[in-house]
Amino acid sequence: MNIDILSIGDELLIGHTLNTNAHWIAHELNQIGFTIRQQTTISDEENHIVKTLDDSLSNVDVVLITGGLGPTNDDLTLPVLNNYFGGSLVEDKQVYQDIEKLVTARGFWMNENNKKQALISDQCKAIRNEYGTAPGLWFEKGGKVVVAMPGVPFEMRGMITNTVIPWLKEKYILPEIVHQLVYTQGIAESILAEKLSGWEENLPATIKLAYLPSYDGVKLRLSSIGKNRVQLQSAIDEQVAVLKTIIPTAIYSTQEEKVEEIIGKLLRENNATIATAESCTGGYISHLITSVSGSSDYYKGSVISYANEIKVRELGVTENDLNTYGAVSQQVVEQMAIGVKAKMKTDYALSTSGIAGPDGGSEEKPVGTVWVGMATPNGVVSKKFLLGKDRERNILKAASKALNMLREELLR
Ligand code: AMP
Ligand code: MG
Repeated sequence: MNIDILSIGDELLIGHTLNTNAHWIAHELNQIGFTIRQQTTISDEENHIVKTLDDSLSNVDVVLITGGLGPTNDDLTLPVLNNYFGGSLVEDKQVYQDIEKLVTARGFWMNENNKKQALISDQCKAIRNEYGTAPGLWFEKGGKVVVAMPGVPFEMRGMITNTVIPWLKEKYILPEIVHQLVYTQGIAESILAEKLSGWEENLPATIKLAYLPSYDGVKLRLSSIGKNRVQLQSAIDEQVAVLKTIIPTAIYSTQEEKVEEIIGKLLRENNATIATAESCTGGYISHLITSVSGSSDYYKGSVISYANEIKVRELGVTENDLNTYGAVSQQVVEQMAIGVKAKMKTDYALSTSGIAGPDGGSEEKPVGTVWVGMATPNGVVSKKFLLGKDRERNILKAASKALNMLREELLR
C-alpha cells in the first residue's frame, strides 16, 4: 500500500519553516505498513496543488497533505480540494461546535474567520481537531483517499494518531513492516561495506539493508515486509546473529542505546571508575558520561585543561614536552590521561587534545587533528584522528572516538 506526502506552504519552500511534518508522518505511516512513494513540497498555489494531486493519485492509494488549511486568504488547500472533488462548501455542525468550544474556552467569541472554518466540502468527512480551529478533511474517490490536515505540527499529529491511522486501518489491510537497527562504531562506512559484502550477498531477498552513517558511527538498518511479524523478526534476528560474528566489537547495540550508556554498564560490571582530562572537547565527554543517570557510581570528575599552564599545573604535563611536541601531540595527551587518572584515583582516564578549528591549523597539524589518550590499569595508549574542518562536528566526533576507545578497551 503506497502513500504520497504532500507539504503545502510557501514558508517551507523559502526555508523559513523546517518541514518536520513530512518526516513525522512518514515514520508513523511506515510503522503501520505503508510504503512512502514520494514526499513533495509545493507552494500555496492552485495549479501547483492540482498538478501534484493528479500525479499522486495516478500512482498511490493515499495522499496525506499538510498546510494551507488556515482561515486566511493565503491558505488555499480547502477551496482547491473542494473544486478538485467537485463539491460545495457547507457548514459542518460538529466542526462548528468544536470551534465554538475551543474559542470560548480561550475567552473569545466566534468571529467571521472562526465561522468560516466550520465550512467544509460536502465531498469530505471532517477530521476533528482537538488542538486548534481548522478541521482536517478526508476525501475518498475510486478507492483512493486524500487527507488534508493543518500545518501546525501538534494539531496534525493529534489528527493522524486519533483519527487518520484508525480510519486507514479500517479501510486497508496493511502488511507488517519490521525495521531492525544495528549500531556500529569504529569502522568507516566504506570499510564496513567491504567487510560485510559476503554477508550482504547472502541476505535473503526479503531483507533490505541500508547503511546510515553519522558522526558517531554507522547504523545498519535491516528491513522486511510481510504478513507475520514474529517470522519477519526472527529472520532478521538470525541475520543479526551472523553479523555479530563478523564484526563482534564494532556493534555496540541493537536497540536505541547511547555509547555512554553502554560504557556505564561496562564500568559498573567491572567495578571500575573513570576520569577525563579534556582540552579540545572542553568538557563534552564529561557531559555525555554524566547525562547517564547513576553515572556517579563510576565517574569521578574532569580537568578541563584548555590552557597549557593548566595541563602542566593540574595534570603534570612537562613543559619540555609541551614546547618540543606541542599541545596536540601523543606525548601531551598521554601525560594528560596519566595525570588525571592519578589525580582522581580512578582505574581509567580519557584525554583529548586537538585543533577543533576553524583557525589554528598548520601544515603539520591541520584543523581536525585530534589526539585521544586513554590510561588503563595496564598503562597508557593514544590514537591520532584526522577529523574535519567544522568545529562543532570535530568536538562531537572527538568525544565519540574517545568513548569508543574506552568501550573497546572495556570489552577486552
Ligand atoms: P497552515 O496550516 O499552512 O496555516 O500552517 C500553519 C503553520 O504550521 C505554519 O505557519 C508553519 O509554522 C507550520 N507548518 C506548516 N507546514 C509545516 C510543515 N510541513 N512542517 C512543520 N511545520 C509546518
Ligand atoms: Mg500555510
